[in-house]
Order: sequence, then structure tokens, then C-alpha cells
Amino acid sequence: MNHTAIQTPASGSEDDWLAAMPKADLHVHLVGSAAPATVAELAARHPDSGVPADAGELSAFYRFRDFAHFLDVYKLVSDVVRGPEDVVTLVAGMAGDMAAQGTVYAEVTVTPVSHMSAGIHPRDLAQALDIGAAAARARGVELAWVYDIAAQDGRDGAQRTLDAALRHPPAALTGFGLGGAETGVRRADFRDEFAAARAAGLHSVPHAGESVGPGEVWAAIDELGAERIGHGIAAIGDPPLLGRLREAGITLEICPSSNVATGVVPSLAAHPLPRLLAAGVPVVLGSDDPPMFNTSLLEEYRRVRDHLGLTADQLQALARASFEASFAPAGLKQRSGTRRPPPTSQGPARQPGS
Ligand SMILES: [Zn+2]
Repeated sequence: MNHTAIQTPASGSEDDWLAAMPKADLHVHLVGSAAPATVAELAARHPDSGVPADAGELSAFYRFRDFAHFLDVYKLVSDVVRGPEDVVTLVAGMAGDMAAQGTVYAEVTVTPVSHMSAGIHPRDLAQALDIGAAAARARGVELAWVYDIAAQDGRDGAQRTLDAALRHPPAALTGFGLGGAETGVRRADFRDEFAAARAAGLHSVPHAGESVGPGEVWAAIDELGAERIGHGIAAIGDPPLLGRLREAGITLEICPSSNVATGVVPSLAAHPLPRLLAAGVPVVLGSDDPPMFNTSLLEEYRRVRDHLGLTADQLQALARASFEASFAPAGLKQRSGTRRPPPTSQGPARQPGS
């Protein structure tokens, strides 16, 4: 397994600047954002779950052998979320972590079928998300939601996801996604559900090209009308696809530590992010499942600086792009303009969002 346990040493004022810089997280999963303390609280609430109720034990529990094992662990953690009050607890923990690192806006992926399977009615799920979002707003964090299909649940799961999104949406539902297994599941299989979601005004933000080749990124664009793509790193091997992403302004949500932890990239130093930037592809940084990957959105900014050599100007451009590529209201996007200048100038700015 390739679980990364890098703790980047602080580097003084630039780390303070990064923490204070307003950031948006456009690729983060609600269940996957649960810190060990939150999971321990939920596991204690539901002792028959088999999930450790001790934050220390959970760290060992979070070490993955491969992508399939990660999905298994993710499902077990999903299983301690059994009632609307558990969803509110999850959102509160996530929002607290975001507030502490300068994340002022997030589009958070929720997999309604996994919560429905645990016995939560989609109407109650939406109400819990609304309650959680209101509490987050009081802490300075604005939340929007993406309902995603878990690909391994097939067409039946896709239909149930669509029904939840259309019939019982939380107030801030903004996007429709597709996650979970990529191997053996074609993006195009979910064409009809995405067409219906888009017709209802939801933005198309599927995962694609995380653990399989660029063909699925093409399919996400051509068959699902993707406006952003989760991961999409497989595009690096397909120059025509890089051109398509650049010309159409389709942003890739890049989650470097996730890619290393799941073994789809061998190391942070080998991550294709610098080559995607050089190709002019719009990119943003996302945290994906941050505690499970021993990271945070702020830590992702630090790691691409320390392991990939991104400059302060590039980091600032990434933060600005995280708002520009979001579906946030215009007033909130302007908050990205309130940042302070970096303490040091390290060369010309590169505009990842252009
Ligand atoms: Zn993801």
C-alpha cells in the first residue's frame, strides 16, 4: 500500500499566508472528510458497527492496501452514519476542520444511496444537510452539495440517486457526480441520469480518469456533459484530450495525496500536476477524503509547493481558480480577491484557471 504519512515541516510566514488565504475545496467527500475523532464519536454511538471507537485505532484502520481496500473501508465508515443526527455530526466536524485552514467555501460530495441504505430517508438527509450548512455558515464556511452516484451500485443506484436529487434536494444542491469504482464501469452507462440531472439545473461533475485511462475522461465530457472532472489525471497521456480540456475550460479537480494513497500515482514527486499546468489545463486542488489520506486542503497546497516546486504565485493562482471554477454565487467568488499578497515573489504568475 502507498499510504503517505508525510508531515511537511512548517516554513514560517508562507505557511501562515497559505492558511489565511481564502480557499475553496471543490473535491471533498462528506463521509471521507470525517476526522478520526468524528468517526470515533459515531462508532461509540453505534457500537455494533465494528468500526473502532478509538481515534488512535482508527489511524491504523485507515491504512489502505489498494484502491479496492480503500472502498471497503469507506463503506464501513459510511455504515456508522445511520441517522440524520449522524449526518449533522459529520458536517459539523468537517466545517470545523475547514474553518481552521482558511477553507471558506466547499462543494461537498454526498452519496445519498449509502445513507439511504443505512435507513435515512432522502428527505431527512436533505434536512440534516441544511441544518449542517446553516451551522457551518455561522462559522464562516459556506457549503454546497454534490449528490453522486456510486458507480458500483449500477443503474438502480443511479436511479435512486437521481430521485433523491430531484425529489428531495438539500437547499444548496449544486451538482451531480459519479464516484466509486472505475474499473469495469463505463461512465457512459450513466448518460440518462446525468441528462436528467442537468435538465433540472444541476452541474455535471463526475469523477473520471482516476484509476483508468483517458477514454473515460473523454466519455465524461462527451456522454455526461462534464463541467469539471474529479481527478482526470489520466488525461496527461492524451495530448488531444489536454487540448479539449484547455479549450473547453473544463477544470480537473486534482487531489495529489489521494492519488498517492490509492496507488494510482507512485509518489507526490511523480504527480502530473506540473505537466497539467504546463499544458494550460484548468486545475484546482481538492482534499478528497482528507483524514483518510492524512492530509487537508491546506496540506495539499503545502505538499505541491514542497514536493512539486510550485511557487507562491502558482499557489495563489490555484486558490483563485478554486473560486472561479466553483458554482458559488458571484458575491462569494469575490472573496477570493481579499487575499493578501505572498511574502515572497517567486517568478511570474501562472494562471491555472486560464
Ligand atoms: Zn473523490
